[in-house]
Formats: sequence, C-alpha cells, structure tokens
Amino acid sequence: MTKLKLQSLHKRESELAQSNRQLEILSNGIFKSGELPKFKDKIAETGHFPLRPKKLEILQINLGYMCNQVCDHCHVDAGPDRKEIMTRETMMQCLEVIKNTGAHTLDLTGGAPEMNPDFRWFVEEASKAGIEDFIVRSNLTIIRANKKYYDLPDFFKKHNVHVISSMPHYTRGKTDKQRGDGVFDKSIKALQELNAVGYGLPGSSLRLDLVYNPSGAFLPGDQSAMEKDFKKALKEDFDIQFHSLFAITNLPIARFLDFLIASENYEDYMTSLVDAYNPAAVENVMCTNTISISWDGWLYDCDFNQMLELKVDSKVKHIKDYNEDLLNDRNIIISQHCYGCTAGAGSSCQGIVT
Ligand code: SF4
Ligand code: SF4
Repeated sequence: MTKLKLQSLHKRESELAQSNRQLEILSNGIFKSGELPKFKDKIAETGHFPLRPKKLEILQINLGYMCNQVCDHCHVDAGPDRKEIMTRETMMQCLEVIKNTGAHTLDLTGGAPEMNPDFRWFVEEASKAGIEDFIVRSNLTIIRANKKYYDLPDFFKKHNVHVISSMPHYTRGKTDKQRGDGVFDKSIKALQELNAVGYGLPGSSLRLDLVYNPSGAFLPGDQSAMEKDFKKALKEDFDIQFHSLFAITNLPIARFLDFLIASENYEDYMTSLVDAYNPAAVENVMCTNTISISWDGWLYDCDFNQMLELKVDSKVKHIKDYNEDLLNDRNIIISQHCYGCTAGAGSSCQGIVT
C-alpha cells in the first residue's frame, strides 16, 4: 500500500506545532489514568536535581528545519515545507565559537543540513578549526535526491567528516513505513556510494555510523545485538559495511507525540518510559556535555529542548553572546520528555548512555 505523503505539523496548522501545547500535554495535561511522577522528583532521588552540565564536549548546530523527507517520528517536525534555515551571518557567529570552544565534537544536524545553501561553505570553514570529531547527520536519501548532491560522499571525504545516518531498519518494509516510500532503496544506494569512497570500511578513518529508532510506540532493543543484526543483513543483502549502530529512543515530542496521541498510545508509551527509568542513565544524558544551537542562533541544552523552545537558563542565550564559562554554570531545563533519555540503557544522539 502506498504511504500518503505527510506534511509537517506546521504546514497542517496542528496545535502540536506549538511548543506550549506540547509542554502542556507532557505535563500530564491529557493523562487520564492518574499522574506520572515528575522527572524532576525522580532525578532528585539520586541527588541530580538541579541537573548540571559537566565538561562541554559537543557543539550541536542545527542548520535548518528544511528536509527532503517527512518521517513519521520526526522530533524536529522537519520537511520540504519548513523554510527556517541558518543564515551565513549566524554561521559566522558559530565559526567564531567553533574556533575557540573547548568542545572536541562538532555535530551538524537539521532537517537535512545539506539543503542549506551555505552548507558546503560552512563545512569548509568549520573543518579548518581542526575539531577532533566533525559529524554531519545525513539522512542518506539527500545524496540521491538531486544531481547537485551526488558528489556529497566525495565532499564529506575531502573534509574528513564523520557521517551519521538514520536507518530505521535493514528491511525495506520497516524503513519505508517510517520514512516514506522509496527511502530504503535510496538509502541503500547512498550507503553503497559512501562505502565506495571508503566510508564505513573496517579500519577506515572515514567513520560511518547508523542510527536506529523504533518504528512504533516501543523502546529500542539491545544496541549491540541490533548492531550485529544490521551488519549481517546489510553485508549479506547489499554488501554494505558501517562502523557502529546507535539505538535511539523516540522522545514524545513533535510528530512522534502526534503519532502517539493519534494512535492512542500516548499514555502507555509514557508509562513504559517511566517504568524503564534508569537512574544510572541520568549521569550521562546528552545535555550534560552538549550545547545545541538553533538555525537562528539561540542556545539550548539539547536538540529536544530546542524543539520545545526551552532556551538555556543562562544570562547567555544567543550565539552572538556566547560565553562557555557562563554557560557551563547553568541549570539544565528538564521536563517530562526527559524520561526518553533515561529509559533502559538511556538514549542520546550517540546511542545508549550507560
Ligand atoms: S527524521 Fe530526519 S530525515 Fe526524517 S524528516 Fe526529520 S530531519 Fe528529515
Ligand atoms: S531531553 Fe534534553 S534536557 Fe532532557 S534529559 Fe534529554 S538531553 Fe537532557
């Protein structure tokens, strides 16, 4: 059956396009069977409230919400109809920060970051700063979306970019169900092209990692077992190799929240996140070592807080005023969506956290 093409919540003028409405829902606004414990109280049990940053390691920069795909679960609510993209002026402010940061990792994300017209210029400039690990989160299909992107594997190689790509499953059915018809075949082709220039091969310094996230209202399985399954299937079926698989929990925000509510899974999913709460995961949640920068230069504790428009609790709130010492001395803003980061083995943009 052909999957109807989704539109972003913004395009549909859904009430969930408003971050306030999402936060209201997350604060038990529509919970019918009693109240879920507050995340704040949970982490207080182990002395983690207020949640504080540790050493800054990762600068994550969102180059815009425009994307060639409209995946079901997208926490960014990205899509072709989103027009918010980072300007060169904001990129220049980011470059100043990149040159001086103590962070060892730069992580470019979106949307599809490659769709920003200044993407290549920004990568060229940022790579001169000699950051240890320079990540681009590529959705793979963008490499096959249009001729102008066909040379991306070579471009990534030239700048020694670390490619991290979503690949919800090694079967066509599950991947296309979540990400749209034809996504699997294009992703396979893109992975083969990345392999062809040296990405993902054993011993290669050109790192290629994949991201798995569940296609429904359930938590991811064991990351290392899934990595073995993905490696075996992709090698046998398509002669594709990659380095690591990151298993990520879907956080109950934006389109995944919309899906949970529409499918009447919201309460069960929230309950399963709370039941799987793992105090050991709190120590290393992503916001403790990351600053997230939005397309318009605002600063957030993480990508999820960015989508909920929860700016950092600091005097410094915008990249133009960036001050790493002041930012490191802040309390992290948390809410009920944070249960997604502490369920089971925990979850971050780099997979499990325990
Ligand atoms: S999940 Fe990624 S590829 Fe899919 S719509 Fe969102 S940003 Fe685009
Ligand atoms: S959602 Fe963000 S703020 Fe909350 S625990 Fe996860 S990384 Fe931290």
